[in-house]
Amino acid sequence: MELRDWQRQLKDKIIQYAKEGFLIALNSPTGSGKTLFSLLIGLSVKGKVVFVVRTHNEYYPVYRDLKKLNSSMKFSFIVGKSTACPFASKDVDSEDINCKYCEIRNAIEIGIDKSPLEKLEELKKEAIQKGFCPYYSLLEATEDADVIAITYPYFFIEKYRSLLNIDFTEYFIVIDEAHNIDKVGEIEEKVLSDFILSMAIKQSRSKEVKSILERLREELKALVYPDEKYIKLEKIPTLTSDELSILADEYEELKKENMKLKKITRIYLGSVLRFFATYSTGLFIPFSFSNKIVLKTLDISQYYSILNDERLSILLMSGTLPPKEYLEKVLGITRKILYVDVEKEVKKKLTGSYECRIALDVTSKYDLRSDVMWKKYASYLLKIYYQAKNHVLAVFPSYEIMRKVMDLVNVNKIVEDERTSIDEIIKIVKESEEKIIIAGVARGKITEGVELTQDSKSLISDVVLVGVPYPPEDDYMKMFSQKIADKIGGKYRDFLIAIPALIAVKQAIGRAIRSVNDHAEVWLLDKRYDSLWWKKNLNCFNSTKIRL
Ligand code: SF4
Repeated sequence: MELRDWQRQLKDKIIQYAKEGFLIALNSPTGSGKTLFSLLIGLSVKGKVVFVVRTHNEYYPVYRDLKKLNSSMKFSFIVGKSTACPFASKDVDSEDINCKYCEIRNAIEIGIDKSPLEKLEELKKEAIQKGFCPYYSLLEATEDADVIAITYPYFFIEKYRSLLNIDFTEYFIVIDEAHNIDKVGEIEEKVLSDFILSMAIKQSRSKEVKSILERLREELKALVYPDEKYIKLEKIPTLTSDELSILADEYEELKKENMKLKKITRIYLGSVLRFFATYSTGLFIPFSFSNKIVLKTLDISQYYSILNDERLSILLMSGTLPPKEYLEKVLGITRKILYVDVEKEVKKKLTGSYECRIALDVTSKYDLRSDVMWKKYASYLLKIYYQAKNHVLAVFPSYEIMRKVMDLVNVNKIVEDERTSIDEIIKIVKESEEKIIIAGVARGKITEGVELTQDSKSLISDVVLVGVPYPPEDDYMKMFSQKIADKIGGKYRDFLIAIPALIAVKQAIGRAIRSVNDHAEVWLLDKRYDSLWWKKNLNCFNSTKIRL
């Protein structure tokens, strides 16, 4: 098969370094062909590859590119019980599923001969009638596969990794969209919210359980703040051990009932119990965030220590990979790293282009926020919308700012919220005959995951950065920066504020540039973008300065 120039130029060097035990960090833009390239590298180095991705939707390109490379190679993939179980609804937690009571707990031999998610749907349809379990069958199918696709938890989190029968030393490991790996810790976070408690009350049978949960609800209300930032809490609602066991008994009953009905829905009481179980480990700290309590850990090194295992051959890749120093100092990678910035290395642009405009009369800076500022932002968005050739993606630093501005923008729009489904957005946008403003928050579902293309061209013509998406300097950020202070020295702002904001902006721009033929207008609506640092890092030296 014909390789692209950059792939041909860099292939042998990367294979050699990987064989010498270097961790490879590959920064290469979207649409440049890095999935195929990483498979090629992995198969040359170890003969077998584990591909680690963020979401199940990203399994398909791996399957497709493997078939392009060698159609006889075997592909397999892993999904959790909540996705694979034919009795379960989508929002179920794997722990709500008790396989002990299941009549079809058998694995059968399966081959993946079509797109992974289509195959999964087929398996789920056949499972009940033919009497086999898709989850356990997929687990077994990894045994003789050449390429296995898994999601982050199955690689980074010991508890999930141990569910697999995979000896990672035998595989070349590709970690895709690796700019996201600093969020791995969020997978284990637990949340207690009014919504969870009220749903748990609704689902519970016994009066006693209901009254315990009602009390927790009152205590929660008194503890949390509405702010969209992490505020450390000194305590959480209390539960005695007797109350805990009453809740645990009810949870077991509800699980059994679900299995009897062969219809497994999410059991909110399980979420409440897991919150308290996680807190009792002493490894998590409670924070208030947007009226909820979130348990977070500062000890992220537990997730990344696997990257330092020199027996493992690893390639991290992304279109917006953080710099090498960030990988070393924030993620704590101590082994030798070969950092390859493909466009710099081959001195050639591998993807589409964009033009920048910087607005000098607006800012999302905290002390200058006001209703007047939100009106100015809304006016900018309307102007951009009416001149745009196609759909507009608007990215905000927070939900609060997004709501305030988007309430003033009365055109065709989609505004992200907690329930937003990426598949639904894609469907609405593709079916729409009119232009749409798609509004999302930086580091949110839309800016990280939406792929809006038709005939390989992006459907987004304009990307608007409403303010600068600096992460909030909240209690969590302060505690985390203290923890890694000796590694990052005085560079706190660079590593924990500026680089994450830059990656978020690049990700947003990347939504409009999916291939070499794409061209986008990028609107940087904040005077702080008019600095050497931003212009250099966004390649915007020829930007136009604008005012309303
Ligand atoms: S089909 Fe049965 S064994 Fe398989 S995940 Fe569902 S409950 Fe468990």
